[in-house]
Amino acid sequence: MLSRRERYDIDVNKPEKQEAEDRVHNWNEVYESYTPEMAVLEAQRCLLCEHAPCMQACPLHNDIPGAFFLLGEGDLVGAAEMFLETSNMPDVCGRICPQEKLCEGSCVVGARKSPVTIGKLEAFVVDHVRARGASLLSSAPDPRGLPSRKNSPSVGTTRSSTTHGPLPAAC
Ligand code: SF4
Repeated sequence: MLSRRERYDIDVNKPEKQEAEDRVHNWNEVYESYTPEMAVLEAQRCLLCEHAPCMQACPLHNDIPGAFFLLGEGDLVGAAEMFLETSNMPDVCGRICPQEKLCEGSCVVGARKSPVTIGKLEAFVVDHVRARGASLLSSAPDPRGLPSRKNSPSVGTTRSSTTHGPLPAAC
């Protein structure tokens, strides 16, 4: 396992950003997607802080160091499931949350270097695993006694927007 020093010494890995001249001609996302190898390397930048300020800053208290430990070990499914433990839509939150004010704004690596790209990694692992058809619904009972995601009602399939209004959004 990498030491904190070794983790800190890894430079930030961000996917390529589309040039503005190209972006005006397509609807693709501004940033290209990570490759699995890049994502693993970026996750290894996480110092696995014991009192993870990123997690405290996250309104959902996503277990960010837990997910990045797994991702850094190459366990993409485990990382995706870790995010899904506390979020129904990590692929959306990873894109639209104001990370610079929340998790990434609190990342200790960001004091002197670029913070760990928490949002991009969160969105990437869930996209990547879903695209490959892997089941992300853990059958293990929730340690807090909450209903498992597997048994949760399927949001959006039976819900009527006219009777219930829009779903509350939490990032
Ligand atoms: S604050 Fe940054 S380095 Fe620490 S656990 Fe969170 S993402 Fe990792």
